Amino acid sequence: MAADDEREELRALVGQLRTNIAARGRSGLLGVALTPAAPPKAKKPETAAVALAPPTMKPSELQDDDRDPAAPRGAAGLQLVREELGDCKRCKLCTTRTNIVFGVGNPDANLVFVGEAPGADEDAQGEPFVGKAGQLLTKMIEAMGYARGDVYICNVLKCRPPGNRNPEPDEVASCEPFLKKQLGAIRPRMIVALGKFAVQCLLRDDSPISRLRGNLRTYEGIPLMPTFHPAYLLRDPSKKKLAWDDLKAVNAALAKVGISPPRPPAP
Ligand code: URA
Repeated sequence: MAADDEREELRALVGQLRTNIAARGRSGLLGVALTPAAPPKAKKPETAAVALAPPTMKPSELQDDDRDPAAPRGAAGLQLVREELGDCKRCKLCTTRTNIVFGVGNPDANLVFVGEAPGADEDAQGEPFVGKAGQLLTKMIEAMGYARGDVYICNVLKCRPPGNRNPEPDEVASCEPFLKKQLGAIRPRMIVALGKFAVQCLLRDDSPISRLRGNLRTYEGIPLMPTFHPAYLLRDPSKKKLAWDDLKAVNAALAKVGISPPRPPAP
């Protein structure tokens, strides 16, 4: 009889554990959604790119349990992340990429820019943001008073989606842990997330980018400023002023913690 009770209790515990793991998976807390996210409401183009479940916790609480506070930082830390990534075959993009586009810039940067995924130029050269959008991003960085080499630039995905299609959830699930580790090695004081995809993905928030931009949030405990993607600004230059407002707000927020750009920003 006692053995039956124990078996019953064990069965109940296993059931609770399964429910808990499934819920954490759906929330993205385990890094990989175990069930597909709810389909985006209506057919709003702003929400179509990211099929990620909304968070049940604040981003700052979404720390990887496996983050080692004693892990190397800066160049040594990034080198370890690069080695772990290796000749990555974790998702299907490995079959179509030319180069892995890991990231570029200052391994001790206060400021990190995160885009969506490499395009054709980046795939060919192995460096993020080197095409037309990249040239505009470089101008934006310079207008803030920084050089490209003062900051760090990377993407959510390290490999180019064929034909520049939107990243798919399994690709994000494979790649985002490496972005987290890059940011864990750099520990910047601010992230600028560029465009609808990177912003919605990092924040687990499918609100339109027009609503998200300009409002400071956090990712893994690091302040994050959402703004427009430079490729979008090339298509709609009338939005450049709003993006510049966002970048000025980044400089202002950094100034509050005693960080100013090496050169005077544009007015
Ligand atoms: N667009 C991005 O999001 N990233 C790049 O590296 C290039 C274009």
